[in-house]
Amino acid sequence: MALRKSASQCLLAFLLLCTAITTDARQDAPLPKAMSLITEEGLRFHLNVIANDETEGRNTPSAGVNIVSRYLATVAEQSGLKPIVPGGSYFQNIPMDVTLVSESRSRLRILSQTGESVFYCPQSFLGTTAGAWAGEVVFVGYGLSVPDKGWDDYGKVELAGRSVIMLEGQLPEGNPLRADRAALATRTSTPRSKGAALVLTVISPEREKEMAARGAGFQITPRATLLSTFPTQNQARISANPQPPARSGQPPQQAAARPAAPVGTAEIRHEVAAAILGISKEELDEMFATIASGKQVPGKAVNKRAELSVITERRPGSSPNVLAVMEGSDPVLRSEYVVVSSHHDHLGMRNGRAMNGADDNGSGTVGMLEIAKALAAAKPKRSVILAWFTGEEKGLWGSHYFVNNCPVPLEKISASLNLDMISRNDPKSLFLIASDNLSKELDASIRAMNDSYSKLTFDYVYNNRAHPDRFYYRSDQYPFIRMGIPGVWIFCGTTPDYHTPNDVIARVDFKKMEKVTRMIYLVTLDIGNKPALLKLDANPEVTTRGKHNTAVDSIR
Ligand SMILES: [Zn+2]
Repeated sequence: MALRKSASQCLLAFLLLCTAITTDARQDAPLPKAMSLITEEGLRFHLNVIANDETEGRNTPSAGVNIVSRYLATVAEQSGLKPIVPGGSYFQNIPMDVTLVSESRSRLRILSQTGESVFYCPQSFLGTTAGAWAGEVVFVGYGLSVPDKGWDDYGKVELAGRSVIMLEGQLPEGNPLRADRAALATRTSTPRSKGAALVLTVISPEREKEMAARGAGFQITPRATLLSTFPTQNQARISANPQPPARSGQPPQQAAARPAAPVGTAEIRHEVAAAILGISKEELDEMFATIASGKQVPGKAVNKRAELSVITERRPGSSPNVLAVMEGSDPVLRSEYVVVSSHHDHLGMRNGRAMNGADDNGSGTVGMLEIAKALAAAKPKRSVILAWFTGEEKGLWGSHYFVNNCPVPLEKISASLNLDMISRNDPKSLFLIASDNLSKELDASIRAMNDSYSKLTFDYVYNNRAHPDRFYYRSDQYPFIRMGIPGVWIFCGTTPDYHTPNDVIARVDFKKMEKVTRMIYLVTLDIGNKPALLKLDANPEVTTRGKHNTAVDSIR
């Protein structure tokens, strides 16, 4: 009996041990094999295609962002994702007005007693605001006016109604005025406050050299405006005087007459400056060298008149969101969705250099291409929409457009996972923004997947809506939150390269990017497989998904 008792105790102990092993095994469920399809090599391959000089900074709108959009749609299709835009397209085109400076009709004329010289845009000058201005020329050197700090390029010079010409220049390292913002502000504010008609700025020798090397003039950047505004946008962003939409098929038209800016401004090349000042280019270089040595260049009146005429043309344009869906595995739940998003636009060209935006947001953009590959191998019960948004840098245009023109019912979207800048900074940490704003389950899912695999340290410092950097409002999760859809921005933080030409592939941490991307894939599976949509359990004012939430102040 004792023996039998002992044997049954052993059996019980054995069974308990088995249960324990099973339980442990369940807790540490094996990670899906498909996750390993997301690789550093794959991320690098795609990033090499989209974040290079040839895509010219992916401005909205531009050929560069269109080419990248085509690439994203092609790879998504190859991975088995289907179009979701009505009519069977991967592209959700966002209509906009595009204003361009007219090359053929804008002019800078310099008139003297002996004749006139005419300069053309963009080879010799670039003005950005439409209008016409004229005045006698006065040269003011570096154009700085801080008499109490021992530097005044204006003195008692009469500026009213004049055309002021100044040098872009740069003071030497260590000069206290070099980074004195208040002092530098006088370079534009002084001519304005003294009633100047026109300010012509002579570009730096570096920019002049760079343009000469390219054999090109200034870069004309199209300025775009959305044709309509949306209830998810901040009131402050809604224009008080929206321009009437231009209709497609119409010829380019002159922009609606606006009152001319009080002061006309233009940047000019060295040949123009030399002609106006009646000096050689070498003498002009010496002036820049004088400023670079921390000394003033004396101003002078020039017995010439400058007349600037900048004409802009407005045309209808558009830029695409790229949308693709991986249909869910469950016949019922596949009519519900998880949205994974990123923005594929960036800042275009600056001073002749492409803003490659490898981290911002090449990283999130290509992360999603690798997630597409993994979804093709193992997908959740719900459908997954991959949404690449355009116009984020302009003010979240693509995501506002998407949630206000959503191809699926908003009520059916469980959550939005937004990837924006996922490849830099401390390899072991990650910022989560808004993950617990509408649903505690969203934050819990990310934490659980992180515990099971990536083991990153989460930083919630930017999750504070009152944070001075206002990141909470600054990426594509925000329009979803305004619609009552739980949304998170997964973010590695900014660096000194943020929004500079130095945000390049060479500085990307592919290992970190792979880890973050895999983790997001796991979260996509987890939320996509849950028995129900994520509960709206974090904000008592937001208990259902839909447009009515845009009126809720607490999620603004
Ligand atoms: Zn970004």
